[in-house]
Amino acid sequence: MNFYKKYSFFINIFLAYLLVIFVTLKLSLVWIIALVTFLFMGISILFYRYDKQKHYYKNIIDNSTNIVIVSDTKKLVSANKTFFKYFKGYKNIEDFSKKHSCICEFFQDEEGYLTSINDGLSWIQYLIKNEIIYHKVKMKIDEDEYYFTISASILDKKNSLYGVIMSNITEQETYKKELELLAINDALTNIGNRRFFHQKLDEQIALTQRYNTPFSLIIFDIDFFKKVNDNYGHDVGDKVLVEYTKYISSILRDSDIFCRIGGEEFIVILSNTTKDKAYLLAQKLREGVEHSKKILPITMSFGVAGYEKGDDDISLYKRVDLALYKAKETGRNKVVLG
Ligand code: GH3
Ligand code: MG
Ligand code: MG
Repeated sequence: MNFYKKYSFFINIFLAYLLVIFVTLKLSLVWIIALVTFLFMGISILFYRYDKQKHYYKNIIDNSTNIVIVSDTKKLVSANKTFFKYFKGYKNIEDFSKKHSCICEFFQDEEGYLTSINDGLSWIQYLIKNEIIYHKVKMKIDEDEYYFTISASILDKKNSLYGVIMSNITEQETYKKELELLAINDALTNIGNRRFFHQKLDEQIALTQRYNTPFSLIIFDIDFFKKVNDNYGHDVGDKVLVEYTKYISSILRDSDIFCRIGGEEFIVILSNTTKDKAYLLAQKLREGVEHSKKILPITMSFGVAGYEKGDDDISLYKRVDLALYKAKETGRNKVVLG
């Protein structure tokens, strides 16, 4: 019926036009009836084919593994069947709309993923403006977390209607995240590894150069650790590394970045911390380690250095490493400021 409704004006004009021709040409009524019937048959075939095609497309879209939705800038207008496989608690789009105005309510705020507002634009407008870039979104539906690729296209500019396609990439994203974590995590102590340290140091230097805030490094190394392994075995040595890592972590702030950068060598990046404050903290750690006697009594030597104007990662690391070397050279179980 939509087809007739949509084009009724033109059909009526056309029929009136035909009538005028027949009257002017004085054609018989039989001719008129024959041609009008023919015309109606033609329109019916067109309508039937249009409806069948619509049915085909709807089937294809419904059976797609992707979520396909139509939305205006404010609310969801329609969605395919796949949408309701994720949003299980809703019978249809009206039911969904009663509780939610936008699927963006399910978007999770995480770096690298699309959010409701991006660069001051609503998510759909942002997708349209940046259509050549590959976009991802993280969503929490009920208690499940999903990752999707997401793209949008304009369906009707005048009525601000957009088509949005979302493809589930949860498996790939989870696997990628696991690999990323493995690449930056130390398996024994479960803190950052050397690669993570260098990554974070570069980030911290960039921040400091931009905002002019201080930051410092504390490096430390277990004294005579070889003897622990030699006397008690490698397994006990491992336990010592794990337990002292936990102990030091319990003293550090959440914002401090603690990494194992060698066998029994560790480093901490202390944001917003002057080298004098870092020195005091290193003393606290040194004394704590000396007195904690976890598994075995051990001591550690510490080097401390603060970021100075003109420093890069290499110059700063050299200074802190030299301070540790001096601590070792001058008797161990001490802190040296670089
Ligand atoms: P120093 O006071 O000069 O630091 O002496 P040290 O014995 O601690 O230093 P050295 O570099 O001679 O020896 C480090 C030891 O750390 C040797 C190695 O067997 C041990 N080590 C390195 N990684 C691990 C590990 O993952 N587990 C265990 N158990 N031991 C490790
Ligand atoms: Mg050592
Ligand atoms: Mg060492």
